[in-house]
Amino acid sequence: MSSLLVDDIGELVTNVPTPGGGPLGLRRDVALLVEAGRVVWIGPTRYAPAADRRIDAEGGAVLPGFVDSHAHLVFAGDRAAEFAARMAGEPYTGGGIRTTVGATRAASDDDLRDTVRRLRDEAMRQGTTTMEIKSGYGLTVADEVRSLRIAAEVTAETTFLGAHVVPAEYAGRPDDYVGLVCGPMLTAATPYARWVDVFCERGAFDADHARAILTVGQAAGLGLRLHANQLGPGPGVRLGVELGAASVDHCTHLSDADVDALAGSATADDPTVATLLPGAEFSTRSPYPDARRLLDAGVTVALATDCNPGSSYTSSMPFCVALAVREMRMTPAEAVWAATAGGARALRRTDVGVLRPGARADLVILDAPSHLHLAYRPGVPLIRQVLHNGVPQCRL
Ligand SMILES: [Zn+2]
Repeated sequence: MSSLLVDDIGELVTNVPTPGGGPLGLRRDVALLVEAGRVVWIGPTRYAPAADRRIDAEGGAVLPGFVDSHAHLVFAGDRAAEFAARMAGEPYTGGGIRTTVGATRAASDDDLRDTVRRLRDEAMRQGTTTMEIKSGYGLTVADEVRSLRIAAEVTAETTFLGAHVVPAEYAGRPDDYVGLVCGPMLTAATPYARWVDVFCERGAFDADHARAILTVGQAAGLGLRLHANQLGPGPGVRLGVELGAASVDHCTHLSDADVDALAGSATADDPTVATLLPGAEFSTRSPYPDARRLLDAGVTVALATDCNPGSSYTSSMPFCVALAVREMRMTPAEAVWAATAGGARALRRTDVGVLRPGARADLVILDAPSHLHLAYRPGVPLIRQVLHNGVPQCRL
Protein backbone atom coordinates (compact mmCIF):
# COMPACT_ATOMS: atom_id res chain seq x y z
CA MET A 1 0.00 0.00 0.00
CA SER A 2 1.39 3.39 -1.02
CA SER A 3 1.94 5.87 1.78
CA LEU A 4 2.39 9.65 1.69
CA LEU A 5 4.02 11.77 4.38
CA VAL A 6 3.29 15.48 4.70
CA ASP A 7 6.02 16.99 6.85
CA ASP A 8 7.55 20.32 7.81
CA ILE A 9 4.03 21.48 8.74
CA GLY A 10 4.32 24.87 10.44
CA GLU A 11 0.86 24.75 11.97
CA LEU A 12 -1.68 21.95 11.77
CA VAL A 13 -5.37 22.72 12.24
CA THR A 14 -6.91 19.44 13.43
CA ASN A 15 -10.29 20.65 14.76
CA VAL A 16 -9.74 18.15 17.56
CA PRO A 17 -9.91 20.40 20.64
CA THR A 18 -6.86 20.21 22.87
CA PRO A 19 -5.98 22.05 26.11
CA GLY A 20 -3.28 24.18 24.46
CA GLY A 21 -4.64 24.25 20.94
CA GLY A 22 -8.10 25.77 21.40
CA PRO A 23 -11.10 24.66 19.34
CA LEU A 24 -8.93 24.38 16.21
CA GLY A 25 -6.69 21.87 18.00
CA LEU A 26 -3.56 23.60 16.71
CA ARG A 27 -0.34 21.59 16.66
CA ARG A 28 3.11 22.69 15.57
CA ASP A 29 6.14 20.93 14.07
CA VAL A 30 4.18 17.84 13.21
CA ALA A 31 3.97 15.47 10.28
CA LEU A 32 0.96 13.59 8.94
CA LEU A 33 0.91 10.18 7.26
CA VAL A 34 -1.69 9.16 4.67
CA GLU A 35 -2.54 5.65 3.49
CA ALA A 36 -5.44 4.49 1.34
CA GLY A 37 -7.05 7.91 1.37
CA ARG A 38 -7.09 8.20 5.15
CA VAL A 39 -5.00 9.93 7.77
CA VAL A 40 -3.26 7.14 9.67
CA TRP A 41 -0.76 8.98 11.88
CA ILE A 42 -0.05 12.48 13.18
CA GLY A 43 2.96 13.17 15.39
CA PRO A 44 6.20 15.08 15.91
CA THR A 45 8.24 15.35 12.73
CA ARG A 46 11.25 13.64 14.30
CA TYR A 47 9.20 10.48 14.85
CA ALA A 48 7.67 10.43 11.38
CA PRO A 49 7.59 6.94 9.87
CA ALA A 50 9.12 6.19 6.49
CA ALA A 51 6.78 6.64 3.54
CA ASP A 52 6.75 5.97 -0.20
CA ARG A 53 6.26 9.62 -1.06
CA ARG A 54 6.70 12.91 0.73
CA ILE A 55 5.25 16.40 0.45
CA ASP A 56 7.25 19.15 2.15
CA ALA A 57 4.81 21.75 3.52
CA GLU A 58 7.78 24.13 3.85
CA GLY A 59 6.54 25.49 7.15
CA GLY A 60 3.08 26.27 5.76
CA ALA A 61 -0.14 25.79 7.67
CA VAL A 62 -2.16 22.65 6.96
CA LEU A 63 -5.87 22.48 7.59
CA PRO A 64 -8.78 20.19 6.78
CA GLY A 65 -10.18 20.74 3.30
CA PHE A 66 -13.07 23.17 3.30
CA VAL A 67 -16.56 21.68 3.53
CA ASP A 68 -18.89 23.80 1.41
CA SER A 69 -22.31 22.65 2.56
CA HIS A 70 -24.42 24.92 0.32
CA ALA A 71 -23.96 25.34 -3.44
CA HIS A 72 -26.17 25.48 -6.52
CA LEU A 73 -23.93 24.34 -9.38
CA VAL A 74 -26.36 22.76 -11.84
CA PHE A 75 -27.42 25.64 -14.06
CA ALA A 76 -26.88 27.26 -17.44
CA GLY A 77 -26.19 30.87 -18.37
CA ASP A 78 -25.08 33.66 -16.08
CA ARG A 79 -26.69 36.76 -14.61
CA ALA A 80 -23.87 39.27 -14.78
CA ALA A 81 -26.23 41.94 -16.16
CA GLU A 82 -28.58 41.44 -13.20
CA PHE A 83 -25.60 41.84 -10.86
CA ALA A 84 -24.62 45.07 -12.58
CA ALA A 85 -28.18 46.39 -12.30
CA ARG A 86 -28.21 45.54 -8.61
CA MET A 87 -24.94 47.33 -8.04
CA ALA A 88 -26.56 50.31 -9.79
CA GLY A 89 -29.30 50.31 -7.16
CA GLU A 90 -31.95 47.73 -8.04
CA PRO A 91 -33.03 45.48 -5.12
CA TYR A 92 -32.60 41.68 -5.03
CA THR A 93 -35.94 39.85 -4.99
CA GLY A 94 -35.08 36.28 -5.89
CA GLY A 95 -37.18 36.59 -9.07
CA GLY A 96 -34.12 36.16 -11.29
CA ILE A 97 -34.10 32.46 -10.38
CA ARG A 98 -36.70 31.97 -13.14
CA THR A 99 -34.23 33.37 -15.70
CA THR A 100 -31.81 30.59 -14.81
CA VAL A 101 -34.60 27.99 -14.86
CA GLY A 102 -35.31 28.82 -18.50
CA ALA A 103 -31.65 28.58 -19.50
CA THR A 104 -31.17 25.35 -17.54
CA ARG A 105 -34.14 23.60 -19.12
CA ALA A 106 -32.83 24.54 -22.56
CA ALA A 107 -29.29 23.26 -21.89
CA SER A 108 -27.96 19.85 -22.85
CA ASP A 109 -26.79 17.34 -20.25
CA ASP A 110 -23.21 17.91 -21.37
CA ASP A 111 -23.51 21.68 -20.96
CA LEU A 112 -24.78 21.25 -17.40
CA ARG A 113 -22.12 18.65 -16.67
CA ASP A 114 -19.37 20.95 -17.94
CA THR A 115 -20.54 23.77 -15.67
CA VAL A 116 -20.76 21.52 -12.61
CA ARG A 117 -17.29 20.12 -13.18
CA ARG A 118 -15.76 23.50 -13.96
CA LEU A 119 -17.11 25.00 -10.74
CA ARG A 120 -16.25 21.89 -8.74
CA ASP A 121 -12.66 22.10 -9.98
CA GLU A 122 -12.55 25.84 -9.33
CA ALA A 123 -13.67 25.21 -5.74
CA MET A 124 -11.11 22.43 -5.32
CA ARG A 125 -8.29 24.74 -6.35
CA GLN A 126 -9.42 27.02 -3.52
CA GLY A 127 -9.33 24.22 -0.98
CA THR A 128 -12.85 22.76 -1.03
CA THR A 129 -12.78 18.98 -0.76
CA THR A 130 -16.43 18.32 0.14
CA MET A 131 -19.22 20.13 -1.66
CA GLU A 132 -22.96 19.89 -1.36
CA ILE A 133 -24.74 20.48 -4.67
CA LYS A 134 -28.44 21.27 -5.05
CA SER A 135 -30.88 20.89 -7.89
CA GLY A 136 -33.50 23.62 -8.20
CA TYR A 137 -33.14 25.17 -11.65
CA GLY A 138 -35.06 22.44 -13.44
CA LEU A 139 -38.42 22.45 -11.64
CA THR A 140 -39.93 19.71 -13.78
CA VAL A 141 -39.68 16.05 -12.82
CA ALA A 142 -37.29 15.30 -15.68
CA ASP A 143 -35.14 18.41 -15.21
CA GLU A 144 -34.81 17.98 -11.44
CA VAL A 145 -33.85 14.32 -11.86
CA ARG A 146 -31.19 15.07 -14.47
CA SER A 147 -29.81 17.91 -12.30
CA LEU A 148 -29.40 15.51 -9.39
CA ARG A 149 -27.99 12.77 -11.58
CA ILE A 150 -25.30 15.13 -12.88
CA ALA A 151 -24.56 16.45 -9.39
CA ALA A 152 -24.23 12.89 -8.08
CA GLU A 153 -21.42 12.29 -10.58
CA VAL A 154 -19.18 14.60 -8.54
CA THR A 155 -20.49 14.49 -4.95
CA ALA A 156 -22.33 12.26 -2.50
CA GLU A 157 -23.91 15.35 -0.95
CA THR A 158 -26.78 15.97 -3.36
CA THR A 159 -29.85 17.95 -2.39
CA PHE A 160 -33.28 17.95 -4.01
CA LEU A 161 -34.46 21.57 -4.19
CA GLY A 162 -37.55 21.24 -6.35
CA ALA A 163 -39.04 23.86 -4.01
CA HIS A 164 -36.64 26.61 -5.08
CA VAL A 165 -39.28 28.84 -6.65
CA VAL A 166 -42.74 28.27 -8.14
CA PRO A 167 -42.07 27.98 -11.89
CA ALA A 168 -43.88 30.30 -14.30
CA GLU A 169 -46.23 27.59 -15.59
CA TYR A 170 -47.62 27.25 -12.03
CA ALA A 171 -47.99 31.01 -11.42
CA GLY A 172 -50.91 31.58 -9.04
CA ARG A 173 -51.16 27.84 -8.31
CA PRO A 174 -48.46 27.22 -5.69
CA ASP A 175 -50.48 24.45 -4.01
CA ASP A 176 -50.55 22.50 -7.26
CA TYR A 177 -46.79 22.87 -7.64
CA VAL A 178 -46.19 21.76 -4.06
CA GLY A 179 -48.32 18.72 -4.82
CA LEU A 180 -46.03 17.88 -7.74
CA VAL A 181 -42.92 18.38 -5.58
CA CYS A 182 -44.28 16.18 -2.78
CA GLY A 183 -45.47 13.50 -5.19
CA PRO A 184 -43.95 12.45 -8.51
CA MET A 185 -40.97 14.82 -8.35
CA LEU A 186 -39.81 13.68 -4.93
CA THR A 187 -40.31 10.03 -5.84
CA ALA A 188 -38.20 10.41 -8.99
CA ALA A 189 -35.54 12.54 -7.26
CA THR A 190 -35.02 10.45 -4.13
CA PRO A 191 -32.70 7.81 -5.66
CA TYR A 192 -30.22 10.58 -6.56
CA ALA A 193 -30.53 12.75 -3.43
CA ARG A 194 -29.26 12.59 0.14
CA TRP A 195 -31.08 15.75 1.25
CA VAL A 196 -34.25 17.73 0.60
CA ASP A 197 -34.31 21.53 0.85
CA VAL A 198 -36.96 24.27 0.55
CA PHE A 199 -36.59 27.99 -0.13
CA CYS A 200 -38.87 29.11 2.73
CA GLU A 201 -39.28 32.82 2.12
CA ARG A 202 -41.93 35.39 1.29
CA GLY A 203 -42.40 35.12 -2.49
CA ALA A 204 -41.20 31.50 -2.54
CA PHE A 205 -42.68 28.83 -0.21
CA ASP A 206 -44.47 29.48 3.08
CA ALA A 207 -44.23 27.45 6.30
CA ASP A 208 -47.11 25.12 5.40
CA HIS A 209 -45.57 24.31 2.04
CA ALA A 210 -42.14 23.82 3.57
CA ARG A 211 -43.49 21.56 6.31
CA ALA A 212 -45.37 19.44 3.77
CA ILE A 213 -42.33 18.99 1.52
CA LEU A 214 -39.85 18.35 4.31
CA THR A 215 -42.15 15.87 6.05
CA VAL A 216 -42.66 13.83 2.89
CA GLY A 217 -38.94 14.01 2.12
CA GLN A 218 -38.05 12.80 5.58
CA ALA A 219 -40.46 9.89 5.24
CA ALA A 220 -38.69 8.99 1.99
CA GLY A 221 -35.39 8.80 3.89
CA LEU A 222 -33.89 12.18 2.97
CA GLY A 223 -32.14 14.45 5.45
CA LEU A 224 -33.52 17.96 5.86
CA ARG A 225 -32.06 21.39 5.15
CA LEU A 226 -33.75 24.73 4.64
CA HIS A 227 -33.18 28.15 3.10
CA ALA A 228 -34.50 30.30 5.92
CA ASN A 229 -34.75 33.93 7.02
CA GLN A 230 -32.63 35.30 4.18
CA LEU A 231 -34.64 38.24 2.88
CA GLY A 232 -36.69 38.97 6.00
CA PRO A 233 -37.95 37.52 9.28
CA GLY A 234 -39.97 34.34 8.93
CA PRO A 235 -40.86 30.90 10.24
CA GLY A 236 -38.09 28.94 8.49
CA VAL A 237 -35.48 28.71 11.22
CA ARG A 238 -37.89 27.51 13.91
CA LEU A 239 -39.50 25.07 11.47
CA GLY A 240 -36.10 23.64 10.63
CA VAL A 241 -35.21 23.17 14.29
CA GLU A 242 -38.61 21.63 15.04
CA LEU A 243 -38.26 19.09 12.23
CA GLY A 244 -34.64 18.23 13.09
CA ALA A 245 -33.04 19.72 9.98
CA ALA A 246 -29.27 19.28 9.77
CA SER A 247 -28.95 22.94 8.84
CA VAL A 248 -30.91 26.14 8.35
CA ASP A 249 -29.12 28.32 5.84
CA HIS A 250 -28.77 32.11 5.51
CA CYS A 251 -30.14 33.12 8.98
CA THR A 252 -29.79 36.79 8.12
CA HIS A 253 -32.96 38.05 9.85
CA LEU A 254 -33.36 36.33 13.22
CA SER A 255 -35.63 37.02 16.19
CA ASP A 256 -34.60 36.19 19.74
CA ALA A 257 -36.90 33.15 19.52
CA ASP A 258 -35.02 31.94 16.42
CA VAL A 259 -31.67 32.26 18.19
CA ASP A 260 -33.06 30.53 21.29
CA ALA A 261 -34.37 27.65 19.17
CA LEU A 262 -30.98 27.17 17.50
CA ALA A 263 -29.14 27.43 20.82
CA GLY A 264 -31.52 24.88 22.36
CA SER A 265 -30.78 22.46 19.56
CA ALA A 266 -27.00 22.89 19.90
CA THR A 267 -26.86 20.49 22.84
CA ALA A 268 -29.01 17.84 21.13
CA ASP A 269 -27.52 14.68 19.60
CA ASP A 270 -28.20 16.00 16.12
CA PRO A 271 -28.11 19.79 16.38
CA THR A 272 -29.42 22.11 13.72
CA VAL A 273 -26.50 24.12 12.39
CA ALA A 274 -26.87 27.77 11.37
CA THR A 275 -25.11 28.02 8.00
CA LEU A 276 -24.17 31.56 7.07
CA LEU A 277 -23.61 32.51 3.42
CA PRO A 278 -21.90 35.90 3.39
CA GLY A 279 -21.25 35.72 -0.35
CA ALA A 280 -24.98 36.32 -0.81
CA GLU A 281 -24.98 39.49 1.28
CA PHE A 282 -21.84 40.65 -0.51
CA SER A 283 -23.32 40.06 -3.96
CA THR A 284 -26.72 41.54 -3.15
CA ARG A 285 -25.25 44.41 -1.12
CA SER A 286 -27.38 43.42 1.88
CA PRO A 287 -26.74 43.52 5.63
CA TYR A 288 -24.76 40.51 6.86
CA PRO A 289 -26.09 38.02 9.41
CA ASP A 290 -24.89 38.58 12.96
CA ALA A 291 -22.61 35.62 13.52
CA ARG A 292 -21.41 37.00 16.87
CA ARG A 293 -24.93 36.87 18.28
CA LEU A 294 -25.28 33.21 17.25
CA LEU A 295 -21.86 32.18 18.53
CA ASP A 296 -22.36 33.96 21.85
CA ALA A 297 -25.65 32.08 22.26
CA GLY A 298 -23.84 28.75 21.74
CA VAL A 299 -25.21 28.01 18.25
CA THR A 300 -23.13 25.80 15.94
CA VAL A 301 -22.23 27.96 12.94
CA ALA A 302 -21.06 26.88 9.48
CA LEU A 303 -19.89 28.97 6.54
CA ALA A 304 -20.64 28.09 2.91
CA THR A 305 -20.49 29.83 -0.46
CA ASP A 306 -24.10 29.56 -1.74
CA CYS A 307 -22.38 29.43 -5.13
CA ASN A 308 -25.08 30.25 -7.71
CA PRO A 309 -25.33 32.48 -10.78
CA GLY A 310 -27.75 34.99 -9.26
CA SER A 311 -26.99 36.00 -5.71
CA SER A 312 -23.50 34.65 -4.92
CA TYR A 313 -21.36 33.61 -7.86
CA THR A 314 -18.30 32.66 -5.85
CA SER A 315 -16.89 29.20 -5.21
CA SER A 316 -14.27 30.53 -2.80
CA MET A 317 -14.38 29.43 0.82
CA PRO A 318 -11.32 31.59 1.67
CA PHE A 319 -13.31 34.60 0.45
CA CYS A 320 -16.19 33.61 2.75
CA VAL A 321 -13.80 33.22 5.68
CA ALA A 322 -12.45 36.72 5.07
CA LEU A 323 -15.98 38.17 4.82
CA ALA A 324 -17.04 36.39 8.01
CA VAL A 325 -14.14 37.87 9.95
CA ARG A 326 -14.39 41.38 8.56
CA GLU A 327 -18.16 41.74 8.25
CA MET A 328 -19.75 39.26 10.69
CA ARG A 329 -17.55 39.70 13.77
CA MET A 330 -16.18 36.17 13.75
CA THR A 331 -12.62 35.58 14.91
CA PRO A 332 -10.30 34.02 12.32
CA ALA A 333 -10.32 30.78 14.32
CA GLU A 334 -14.14 30.71 14.46
CA ALA A 335 -14.38 31.33 10.73
CA VAL A 336 -11.87 28.61 9.83
CA TRP A 337 -13.67 26.16 12.14
CA ALA A 338 -17.04 27.09 10.60
CA ALA A 339 -15.69 26.57 7.06
CA THR A 340 -14.34 23.11 7.88
CA ALA A 341 -15.77 21.36 10.97
CA GLY A 342 -18.92 23.51 10.88
CA GLY A 343 -19.66 22.51 7.29
CA ALA A 344 -19.10 18.87 8.20
CA ARG A 345 -21.67 19.17 11.00
CA ALA A 346 -24.11 20.82 8.63
CA LEU A 347 -23.79 17.68 6.48
CA ARG A 348 -23.71 15.38 9.53
CA ARG A 349 -20.33 14.02 8.50
CA THR A 350 -17.67 12.93 11.00
CA ASP A 351 -15.03 11.82 8.48
CA VAL A 352 -14.32 15.27 7.00
CA GLY A 353 -13.64 18.73 8.43
CA VAL A 354 -11.21 17.19 10.89
CA LEU A 355 -7.68 15.78 10.75
CA ARG A 356 -7.08 12.80 13.00
CA PRO A 357 -6.25 9.15 12.42
CA GLY A 358 -9.17 7.57 10.57
CA ALA A 359 -10.39 10.81 8.97
CA ARG A 360 -10.41 11.22 5.23
CA ALA A 361 -7.12 12.62 3.94
CA ASP A 362 -8.75 15.80 2.67
CA LEU A 363 -6.46 18.69 3.46
CA VAL A 364 -5.10 22.01 2.33
CA ILE A 365 -1.51 23.26 2.48
CA LEU A 366 -1.25 27.03 2.68
CA ASP A 367 1.40 29.28 1.28
CA ALA A 368 1.36 30.95 4.70
CA PRO A 369 2.49 29.97 8.19
CA SER A 370 -0.90 30.22 9.90
CA HIS A 371 -4.65 29.86 9.32
CA LEU A 372 -4.88 33.55 10.32
CA HIS A 373 -3.62 34.50 6.88
CA LEU A 374 -6.84 33.33 5.22
CA ALA A 375 -8.61 36.41 6.60
CA TYR A 376 -5.52 38.58 7.04
CA ARG A 377 -4.61 38.34 3.34
CA PRO A 378 -8.01 38.46 1.57
CA GLY A 379 -8.12 37.76 -2.14
CA VAL A 380 -4.63 36.26 -2.21
CA PRO A 381 -4.24 32.73 -3.65
CA LEU A 382 -2.81 31.08 -0.54
CA ILE A 383 -3.83 27.50 -1.38
CA ARG A 384 -0.59 25.81 -2.43
CA GLN A 385 -1.74 22.19 -2.46
CA VAL A 386 -4.94 20.24 -1.90
CA LEU A 387 -5.16 16.56 -1.03
CA HIS A 388 -8.50 14.89 -1.77
CA ASN A 389 -8.79 11.31 -0.53
CA GLY A 390 -5.04 11.50 -0.10
CA VAL A 391 -4.44 12.40 -3.74
CA PRO A 392 -2.60 15.67 -4.52
CA GLN A 393 -4.79 17.88 -6.76
CA CYS A 394 -2.46 20.75 -7.66
CA ARG A 395 0.71 20.61 -9.70
CA LEU A 396 3.53 21.95 -7.61
ZN1 LIG B 1 -28.98 28.74 -1.70
